[in-house]
Amino acid sequence: MGLTDDTIAAIATPVGLGGIGIIKISGPRSSEIAARLFRPRNATLPFKSHYLHYGEVVDPDRRHVVDEVLLSFMAKPCSYTGEDVVEINCHGGPLVLKEILEIVLRTGARSAEPGEFTSRAFINGRIDLTQAEAVVDLIESKSSLSLKLASSQLKGTLSQEINALKEGFLDMLSLLEAAIDFPEEDLELVSSSKLISQADSFISRVEKLSNSYAEGRFYREGVSTIIAGKPNVGKSSLFNVLLEEERTIVTPLPGTTRDFVEEIIVVDGIPLKLVDTAGLRHPADRIEEEGVRITKEKLDQADLVLLVIDNSAELDEQDEMLLSSLRGKRVVVVLNKIDLPGKVSLDRIKELLPARRIVSTSALHKTGFEKLKEVVVSSLVTHARPQPSSPVISNLRHKLVLEKILKLAQSAREGLQKSIPPEFIASDLQTALHHLGEITGQTTPEEVLEQIFSRFCIGK
Ligand code: GDP
Repeated sequence: MGLTDDTIAAIATPVGLGGIGIIKISGPRSSEIAARLFRPRNATLPFKSHYLHYGEVVDPDRRHVVDEVLLSFMAKPCSYTGEDVVEINCHGGPLVLKEILEIVLRTGARSAEPGEFTSRAFINGRIDLTQAEAVVDLIESKSSLSLKLASSQLKGTLSQEINALKEGFLDMLSLLEAAIDFPEEDLELVSSSKLISQADSFISRVEKLSNSYAEGRFYREGVSTIIAGKPNVGKSSLFNVLLEEERTIVTPLPGTTRDFVEEIIVVDGIPLKLVDTAGLRHPADRIEEEGVRITKEKLDQADLVLLVIDNSAELDEQDEMLLSSLRGKRVVVVLNKIDLPGKVSLDRIKELLPARRIVSTSALHKTGFEKLKEVVVSSLVTHARPQPSSPVISNLRHKLVLEKILKLAQSAREGLQKSIPPEFIASDLQTALHHLGEITGQTTPEEVLEQIFSRFCIGK
């Protein structure tokens, strides 16, 4: 990660036209740069920190006024990065922004790398790594609930839980170290039941946090949802009703939806990444064959399959093949065309796909969709909605580290039960502590940090 003794600058607002645009400067030369290019309207007012100052940006070399601006100065350490920060609010045209940035760079700053402002906030101890990650999640939120989860993580809900776990591990370690240092006093015996119950409580806390990923991920990343079924059962019609607008062409000819159409809809706070697949059938031509191959791949990767079956026809070989191939997956069977007389055997569906949920719809008459959404949500989240105040992880990195910690805590617990020498148990706990630090950033490898900050945009 970069050094922080120089001054960085970037345009912080998106490219394009806007009411206002912001240029952000951070580092030791921020106020000096501001003094060179900013001409306040009222020069008698003091240039105070954490105030907005009204005036003009003047090119110090060419001496012409570039724009009328509001400029703020936030002296360290009370700023986003923990360094001196200057923000210039100018008019939102790309040329104005570019010209002001060019002056800022000419007067002593260098261009910021993606995520460099946030990485400085992290390096300067303003935020920990989980909070830095929450900044990206917040920007990329796909639903109001994922926004709430990200904002709770940014406030430090997850950091607090990790720190509480750290304190607990340290507490256990100090008891163990006493047993190592004074073996003759039989401290081990005195404290072993206490240590076991402490270990149990950590195991359940780590497990709870680790398990929250299954649902946390859905809220943050969305659920990849495939609408599958043989041709002409009503997949595209269903897709369109779910989207509440016609985006794919509905046609009575089977097999015309050859491309995959993807859209995101939000159901009860959960973003569903909906994919309408090419009709699954025996390949009649090469394009169709390719479509079927990709469909199978997508089915394997999907979090949720909405398997559409035509209620007005008897189950055929293709339906049966699909039903039995989806065993073990999270599937909602959608019996479509219930406006027509039913011919499908429910018993056969239940036989072929024992763990399934069945909903009846008519995509033509737009009925059954409330129930469908309800069943989809209950197939994804088992508990009540996550409370933003309780820690939830939604990031695979956290989940993988927590799994390592869980194994170590379990091994420590086993060791305590078997009364193995305390040195070994202490070593497991030390490693677990190290891993906890990886989540919050104290012991995270450099390359992981770089990878995390590279996900940011320039100016954040
Ligand atoms: P896909 O090939 O599975 O994507 O099926 P489509 O959505 O293209 O629908 C195939 C045909 O079935 C079209 O003529 C639709 O109008 C019709 N269809 C779709 N859903 C229903 C329904 O619920 N009831 C009836 N009666 N017809 C439907």
